Amino acid sequence: MKCPFCNHPDTQVVETRVAEDGGFIRRRRQCGHCEKRFTTYERPEVSFPAIVKKDGRRIDYDRSRLRGSFSLALRKRPVSIDKVDMALEHVEDKLRSLGAREVQTHLIGELVMAELQKLDKVAYIRYASVYRSFEDIDQFKSIVDEVTKPAAGKKDTGKKKP
Ligand SMILES: [Zn+2]
Repeated sequence: MKCPFCNHPDTQVVETRVAEDGGFIRRRRQCGHCEKRFTTYERPEVSFPAIVKKDGRRIDYDRSRLRGSFSLALRKRPVSIDKVDMALEHVEDKLRSLGAREVQTHLIGELVMAELQKLDKVAYIRYASVYRSFEDIDQFKSIVDEVTKPAAGKKDTGKKKP
């Protein structure tokens, strides 16, 4: 790396430190010409696929937009910010792990739905009803049935013990 002061191409690393949380590496460098020191930071580059909207336009992934979707669905619901943050992380992990350069907007919608389903059933139905813009009442009923049916194993069969 060249010196930012005199543009000399020969600089030496004199110190390397890893940040406490391991998130970046900090290096002190010294110019072999003017002997001034400067610092560089090395961080992993986190890239998300571009989002392709229904009309074909591509937009950059935007975390605040995604958070907005969660907030809207979870309005006045008893879900902590920590849990919303975790759900956001899950969606982002999945997006990154795809390794794709671009994804359709509906994929994001599906990922958000999957997280909301785990977080809060009311929020899930809210989001799903807007997002899927149900074409008929049966479709809506099936999704409500899906989230309101009792969990397996907890069902009372009504049978009496011998
Ligand atoms: Zn220099």
